Amino acid sequence: MMIDCEIRKLLFKAVAQRVIASADELTDLDRAIGDGDHGTNMRRGFEAVLSAVDELAAKNLGESLKGVGTTLVMKVGGASGPLYGTLFMSLGKTLEDEVTREQFADAFADAIGAVKARGKSDVGQKTMLDVLFPVLAVLREGGAGLPQRLKAAAKVAAEQTVPMRAIRGRASFLGERSIGHMDPGARSSSLIVDAVAEVMEGLA
Ligand code: ADP
Ligand code: MG
Repeated sequence: MMIDCEIRKLLFKAVAQRVIASADELTDLDRAIGDGDHGTNMRRGFEAVLSAVDELAAKNLGESLKGVGTTLVMKVGGASGPLYGTLFMSLGKTLEDEVTREQFADAFADAIGAVKARGKSDVGQKTMLDVLFPVLAVLREGGAGLPQRLKAAAKVAAEQTVPMRAIRGRASFLGERSIGHMDPGARSSSLIVDAVAEVMEGLA
């Protein structure tokens, strides 16, 4: 499909608005197993994306994704800022405005790889990767009802971080006590996927 300036704007706005609207929830999650700043961090970053959305979306898809990534690195802070920044910057590396599902999946796989490298982390450690990775699997499958399945996969994956023990990030300092709470970064990733999938549904 063609991801033109209007669609880029729709996508960036939808993601930013969803994250901003959920800042309190993210902060509550981070208060339980972190330092309670994930919502404020993400809100700051995505408010910056929202206020620059016209300029960001005016560039081609690759450059605009890089612009979002750079904005997040500069504004989010914490552990999640550089990691989300890496995700978006890496996504922007190869994508053309005209993009197939397979091309997007390949770029997403590379971006997840870049997050892993940056965070020295992997799936199963109670982080954002525990949502991003299962979402990639559904994206690779493709098929009917893809947006709905992406949303469902992201939701379930975030819930599945509840019984996990954190091995990376601040929550890992809690050891066993990190068990029983949803990972804040997994939740923010599921919100981002949800917002993108809703835009996809609206376009279909
Ligand atoms: P901080 O932990 O510095 O306060 P945030 O609260 O903004 O930063 O973000 C915390 C989230 O970042 C975690 O819930 C987790 O999902 C993610 N995270 C932290 N460290 C890593 C890592 N090494 N790899 C992947 N994700 C990580
Ligand atoms: Mg925090």
